[in-house]
Amino acid sequence: MRSWADKLRKVVPYTPGEQPDKAGMIKLNTNENPYPPAPGVKKALESLDDQRLRLYPNTTAKPLAKALAKYYRVEPDQVFIGVGSDDVLAIGFMTFFNSDKPIFFPDITYSFYPVWANLFKIPYETKALDRDFKIVREDYRAPNGGIIFPNPNAPTSYYESLDLVEDIVRHNQDVIVIVDEAYIDYSGESALKLINKYDNLLIVQTFSKSRSMAGMRIGYAMGNPELIRAMNDVKFSYNSYTMNMPSIYSGIEAVNDEAYFIDHIRKILETRKWTESQLSQLGFEFPVPGGNFIFAAHPEYQAKDLFTALREKKIYVRYFDLPRIDNYLRITIGTDEEMKSFIDAISEITQVN
Ligand code: PMP
Repeated sequence: MRSWADKLRKVVPYTPGEQPDKAGMIKLNTNENPYPPAPGVKKALESLDDQRLRLYPNTTAKPLAKALAKYYRVEPDQVFIGVGSDDVLAIGFMTFFNSDKPIFFPDITYSFYPVWANLFKIPYETKALDRDFKIVREDYRAPNGGIIFPNPNAPTSYYESLDLVEDIVRHNQDVIVIVDEAYIDYSGESALKLINKYDNLLIVQTFSKSRSMAGMRIGYAMGNPELIRAMNDVKFSYNSYTMNMPSIYSGIEAVNDEAYFIDHIRKILETRKWTESQLSQLGFEFPVPGGNFIFAAHPEYQAKDLFTALREKKIYVRYFDLPRIDNYLRITIGTDEEMKSFIDAISEITQVN
């Protein structure tokens, strides 16, 4: 054996949804937004001057942090910006989860959490969701090294009430609780309003879904300034210039166009409602969706077979071969036309079999 081989870091990486590039495909597998970003985004990219490309960007993406702070009515020093919320979450794991006690997260959740825990050697314990995929609040009252959960949850799409979120934050004031709100704009109230009440709460959001900018990689966290400072210290300890100029300046345009943002959330919600009714008529069952996706199972058909049959028709949805959810499909909400094609295809598949 080569002498360096046993020095290689061995990890089990996160598996992202596939990014096929097929003519005529319908891509409903990674919760991207089917609509373009706000018009100002492209304009900002086209008008980037040499200066902005030639110089290093601001290390904390301050111009974007200021725009977000204004939009969310918080202070700029309460905002941390990263390369997508995956980057923000990973830095959150490194910054806040440093205990000998295990961190807690749900058994069915964003499958990146156990990957980061293993990468950063953080002990963790999963807490089983109940049969309806809801969090059992009492499970989060045992000693722990920190807590993280998405709300709405992924891949279930289920939104937990603010009352439940606050209950968990209140019972865990000696550790940091991270609420991953990647899909919050499609559901209920954000827990953001609690960050001034609880200094142990960190809210993480993203431009990838409701702002149609997955390709630009912008995520952000909001919390008390001490948490944000600690995250920046960790970030500066491995790479100061993570946010590139095009992302910073196009991101500002997206934040400033509230009318476009609200209108496109409304569009997705309307299409989601239509898709829900069509899926119900076909006999699918699903938790009440809170994201730009539906997590559906059919009592008579195997999800894996449906996934394969759809794929043959160049319709891509997400299938997870994991305990408790291996009979579900996660279906991103696309345009009206895309969802009509999806419903036509799945009707055909379920009738033929
Ligand atoms: N959190 C959750 C729950 C997600 O589903 C995703 C999308 N895969 C992310 C975070 C990361 O999104 P991004 O890095 O594009 O902001």
